[in-house]
Amino acid sequence: MSRIYNFSAGPAMLPEAVLRQAQEEMSDWQGSGMSVMEMSHRGKEFMSIAAQAEADLRELMAIPAGYKVLFLQGGASSQFGMIPMNLTRDKGKADYLNTGSWSKKAIGEAKRYCEVNVAGTRTEGKFDVPQQGQLKLNAGAAYLHYTPNETIEGIEFPYVPETNGVPLVADMSSTILSRPVDVSRFGLIYAGAQKNVGPAGLTLVILRDDLIGTPIDGTPTMFDYKIHADNESMYNTPPTYAWYLAGLVFQWMKGQGGLEGMARINERKARKLYDAIDASPFYNNPVEPECRSWMNIPFTLANPDLDKSFLEGASKAGLKTLKGHRSVGGMRASIYNAMPEAGVDALVGFMAEFERKYG
Ligand SMILES: *Cc1c(COP(=O)(O)O)cnc(C)c1O
Repeated sequence: MSRIYNFSAGPAMLPEAVLRQAQEEMSDWQGSGMSVMEMSHRGKEFMSIAAQAEADLRELMAIPAGYKVLFLQGGASSQFGMIPMNLTRDKGKADYLNTGSWSKKAIGEAKRYCEVNVAGTRTEGKFDVPQQGQLKLNAGAAYLHYTPNETIEGIEFPYVPETNGVPLVADMSSTILSRPVDVSRFGLIYAGAQKNVGPAGLTLVILRDDLIGTPIDGTPTMFDYKIHADNESMYNTPPTYAWYLAGLVFQWMKGQGGLEGMARINERKARKLYDAIDASPFYNNPVEPECRSWMNIPFTLANPDLDKSFLEGASKAGLKTLKGHRSVGGMRASIYNAMPEAGVDALVGFMAEFERKYG
């Protein structure tokens, strides 16, 4: 097996050990004579896989009692609608922080279902986040929604907003499981799986029991949290194989020292790359130092005419999918949990060599 270092923002790399285990179990899961893909979601084999995955996620994130964990489909993008549909029936309005491309999408969708108050934005012309003291929070809001890690811009919140009792809702698609978080600070956490959890097709929703209620009129059954909570995410057929693979990833993370262990590795990987960027006028990252993401690191070359050569050379060296998002340009290295430290070392080495040649 010859593996590349894939810096894609998602779907992204999975741990090689997980892929190998999945390969071994592919056609006969633990003597059952079936692939996990072929199992009934209501059979005892899959029920045990599902329960183990949830227990491991609860342990990793230290999810307190009083929270449900849902294994859904539809991606984080479906949650952009599902959240206002389920949470705004009584209050009719919600606060949102707008810090980048994914915040904007969440806001656009929420406006279809409720009144949206944008309670904080970046400083004009800067890659930063609003400070706690700058937030214009509405005490009557159903919730405050924010994006702890903006995948496209590479901006990460260095703090968890304080909302004085208003439920805090977080799109953690590109930062979940990268470090410990205090789940009790949040009303609802959601994430598409394809960045830090597993393959595409699975969406995690972790929500406080008291937020499960009656959605607005006209909400489709499949968009009702209560239906999924009451049926243990098995109201209809869940994404069984993605759920199983996420479970293997959770086991792998436990072997890496849990989220404390992941955080140590992730911080070190990110620091290596930022140090390489900052050490040279040849490379630039636009994000304010205290808001720099550990997971998505955009950078530009001083001379954008060299972008193409950079990407071609990197690709030849087995460093793939480094092209930046079309809205930002340059490069973007996504270095989620499953990116080995050796991949970051290889990228840093390539950057130094490229600069020697063209700088
Ligand atoms: C990738 C991403 C999304 C979109 O996820 P889908 O699962 O494709 O809908 C939303 N928010 C953030 C922060 C993301 O990184």
